[in-house]
Amino acid sequence: MQLLRRQFEIIQEHALRENPYECCGLLAGRRQQNPHGEYENVVYEVAPCSNVLYSGREHGFEISFSEYIDIEREARDLGYEIVGSYHSHINSKAIPSINDVDFARPGHSMVIISIQHMQPSGVTAWYRREAEGFHQEAIQVIE
Ligand SMILES: [Zn+2]
Repeated sequence: MQLLRRQFEIIQEHALRENPYECCGLLAGRRQQNPHGEYENVVYEVAPCSNVLYSGREHGFEISFSEYIDIEREARDLGYEIVGSYHSHINSKAIPSINDVDFARPGHSMVIISIQHMQPSGVTAWYRREAEGFHQEAIQVIE
């Protein structure tokens, strides 16, 4: 996946601001096909969301359906689509939990930022294929 540097910074700022709770948000952009015919998500905008999980926000997140729909509409107005989500992990590695795997939609990228001792300590991205599979993908930060 590709991510503009400014959007990458917004994700990190959001994660630190919500600490000790997980932050969450959506990624808007476009899916483009690379020369190998594989799809890649390019993120142009990020939309910080409220973590509406009733309890356990230290190690989980939930984005409300209404906020998702609103952001999807705004993205479409800009000519983008929702291409994924991001959230933080507090004092644990940037590896998807069982719930994360369930949350990821086909064709979407999931960015996980690990916050350890109040500092960003690792970022990973995961791609959900249209068919089966959820695998780590590289994050290319673009200027
Ligand atoms: Zn998670």
